[in-house]
Amino acid sequence: MKNINELGELVLKKVQISLCLVDGNGEVIFANEAALEFLNKREKEIKGLHIHDIVHGSSSDHKKDHCPLIKPIKDNKPILREPDIFYNSEGKGSWAEFSSYPLLKGSEFKGILISFLNAAVSMKSDQALLEHQAKFKAVFTQALYPKMILDSTGEILESNRASRRIFGESIENTMLFDYFTPLSQKKVKEFWGKFMPNEHYEERIEVTVNDSNAGKKKYVFDFSATKDIQPNMHLLTLLDVTEEYYEQEAQNQFISVASHELKTPLAVIKAYSELLQRKYKDDGAASQYVNKIQEKVDVLTRLINAMVDETKLGAGKLEFNNQQVIFGKFVEDVVDELQKAYHHHKLALKGKSDSIIELDPERISQVISNLVSNASKYSEKGKDIVIMIEDDNDRVQVGVKDYGPGIPKKEQPQLFKAFYRSPSAHKKKYPGLGLGLFIAKQIVNHYGGDVWIESKWSQGSTFYFTLPKK
Ligand code: ADP
Repeated sequence: MKNINELGELVLKKVQISLCLVDGNGEVIFANEAALEFLNKREKEIKGLHIHDIVHGSSSDHKKDHCPLIKPIKDNKPILREPDIFYNSEGKGSWAEFSSYPLLKGSEFKGILISFLNAAVSMKSDQALLEHQAKFKAVFTQALYPKMILDSTGEILESNRASRRIFGESIENTMLFDYFTPLSQKKVKEFWGKFMPNEHYEERIEVTVNDSNAGKKKYVFDFSATKDIQPNMHLLTLLDVTEEYYEQEAQNQFISVASHELKTPLAVIKAYSELLQRKYKDDGAASQYVNKIQEKVDVLTRLINAMVDETKLGAGKLEFNNQQVIFGKFVEDVVDELQKAYHHHKLALKGKSDSIIELDPERISQVISNLVSNASKYSEKGKDIVIMIEDDNDRVQVGVKDYGPGIPKKEQPQLFKAFYRSPSAHKKKYPGLGLGLFIAKQIVNHYGGDVWIESKWSQGSTFYFTLPKK
């Protein structure tokens, strides 16, 4: 007899229920035959991909992090028979019903098992259709998240238990907008107006619900709406993200206050050390000490700025103040300025560009400065750093080349992720948060440009970025 593991695997593969095993990042480890048939995909097309990208994709009405399929990863609670819309690669949606169970071995989280079935396939006869509708209704009613079916005017046709918990009993045949305070009402109406011309629409909105019994209560919901699940019937799901939103806000506020408090004394230290530098410029030892102080103050200031930028990027609040610059001249000025700070290296500038580019000088000099700072940090003192400008038909390009250790191929895709630091950076205790390249990428992407690296282990690295000419 085959052992139970082998049999178990066979059963998983063959059973006529669609099953996917998903790891703690939401990525598919295994999908059985029924699931592959359902999704119309081959195993290698979905293995390692995020389950949300596979079944919801870009047509989805919610973001990856809030995908209901993977909710058990966060809270360890199973989801049973939740209705959902699965999209195929052409963006066409169909009703499915899924369950998602956390798999625990003892208290160790091993992943989640997602099972699903196509609601439509089971409708083989009218009788089956009726049964299905009854079943669907039951599932809709029990759904964990508030779900409502509304007509185009915003009248609630059906609601589930979770939505009644928020808006009160007997909300059918009333207008959704009426449950909010005037200011929130305006926001929800705006959302509805933006949704109507689309198939799907989603938006995070801070609202105050005005419950006649319970009084006013603030929520932050991910509103997501899907058009015409039947003619003139639209599905609205509200994902309650209030807690995490306010936690994040509090954290952002803390970082912004703390960084301000840290930056003020640092600016004073910097100013006094500049005075000292002038005073002791002829005293070799003293001026060396003061230089050290300045270097470290600069490192600290950069770390604090990176923290603030990351927070702002996360909240979508990074400001850009664009102006037109002659690109080559602009880069030259930035490099001149950087040469003063990185006096242990020769910064060699190559190439030129007379193109006029619209950019935020502070932000783009921050990109160059992050790349030069890394080139200096990760290569030995005295090694050159080459800054290369290129001007193509439709874009300008800057490369920053160093003669440091280089970066192994397998690490390269990780570099631009927030908080990624290579094992060697950790080992050698270089200061840093792993944010410099992430921030550089976000800034360059904001302008529609790219950033990438060309490097081989032990042969130095060149980081490039481009900016499109408008
Ligand atoms: P940080 O330098 O603060 O760690 P970055 O986002 O700037 O963060 O860089 C991420 C990682 O990329 C670094 O930890 C380092 O491992 C690697 N890296 C970046 N630039 C270079 C470089 N010029 N040479 C070698 N490794 C680099």
